[in-house]
Amino acid sequence: MRRITTIAELRAWVAEQRGAGRRIGLVPTMGALHRGHLSLVEAAHRDADLVVVSVFVNPTQFAPDEDFDAYPRDLQGDEAKLAALGDAAPDVVFAPDVDEVYPRPNLTTVHVDVLGERLCGRSRPTHFDGVTTVVTKLLNMVAPDAAYFGRKDFQQLTLIRRMAADTNQPVEIVGCPTVREPDGVAMSSRNLYLTDEDRSAARALSQGLRAAVLTAREARDSGTPVRPGMLRDAVTVTLDAEPRIRTDYVEVVDPDTLVPPDERGEENAGAASKSPDKLLVAVAAYLGKARLIDNVVVGDHDDEDRLLSATTNDD
Ligand code: AMP
Repeated sequence: MRRITTIAELRAWVAEQRGAGRRIGLVPTMGALHRGHLSLVEAAHRDADLVVVSVFVNPTQFAPDEDFDAYPRDLQGDEAKLAALGDAAPDVVFAPDVDEVYPRPNLTTVHVDVLGERLCGRSRPTHFDGVTTVVTKLLNMVAPDAAYFGRKDFQQLTLIRRMAADTNQPVEIVGCPTVREPDGVAMSSRNLYLTDEDRSAARALSQGLRAAVLTAREARDSGTPVRPGMLRDAVTVTLDAEPRIRTDYVEVVDPDTLVPPDERGEENAGAASKSPDKLLVAVAAYLGKARLIDNVVVGDHDDEDRLLSATTNDD
C-alpha cells in the first residue's frame, strides 16, 4: 500500500498500470474510515486488479456553517484500517492537500440539475455541486474503470451516476449496500459526534425504515397497493416517538428520478418515472449538531431483506 499525495505522481502510477492492462477501481472517501468504507474497498478488490482509495475532506461540499473544520481527520489511523484488510488492502491511498486539488480559486462547478435540489438538497443547497465537482476531478485524476459508492448516500449515488453518464465519463459507477452497526444504525463518520443519548436515539431512523418495509410487506400480502403515504407515515410515527430527534425530511420517491411518484417527472429529461415498482424511502434527521441520513428501497427485495436482517423488532 503506497501513499500518494500529488496528482503528477498518481498519474504516472496510473499510466504505468494501464500500460500493463490492469483494471483500476476507485473508492472516494473523506477518511474517518469505518466498516462501511472498508466494504467498498472490498467490493473494488473483488472486481478490479488495482484499487485506489482517495482520502480527501472536500471543502466545496461543506456550507460555511457546516463542519468542514471539525470533520474528523486521521490519515494514519485510516491507513492502518486499510492495511488490516490484508489481501484486500488498496494499492494506493491518494491523500492530496486542498491546494493540490484546488490550486486556484475554483471557477468551474459540475452541477447536476434537478436531482440535487430535492431531499438533502433542500437543506444543503450547495452540497451536491461540491460533491459532483470533486468526484469529476477524482475521476479525471485516476481515470478508473469503476468507482464505488455507498447506497447510504443514495441521492449522491443517483447524482454521480447521472453526472458520469451526462459527461460521458468512461467509468462504471457501482452502488454498494449500506453497512450498519449491530443495532441497525447506518455507519457514518458523523456518528462520532453523537452523545450516548443521541446515539441510542439514532436507532429511530433505521427502525422507521424497518416499519416502512413491514408496512409494504403487509400491504403486498393482503393484495393492497403499496402507497407512498403509508410508507411515509410508518417512518414519521417512529421518528416522532423519539423526542431527541428533529426530523429534516421523510420522503418517498422514485429511486431513479428522485421525484415523488404522484408528481410528473418531465423535468428529468427522459428519465420520467414509469409506474414505479420501487420506492426510495429516505430520511434525514438532526440529533444534537449531527445530521444523519438513511434509506431503503421498498420493492428492491435484496435491500428490504438487508434492512430487516440488520434491524431488530422493538415490539
Ligand atoms: P464519506 O467518507 O462519508 O464521504 O463516504 C465515502 C463513501 O463511503 C461514500 O460512497 C459513502 O456512501 C460510503 N459510505 C459511508 N457510510 C457507509 C455505510 N454505512 N455503508 C456503505 N457505504 C458507506
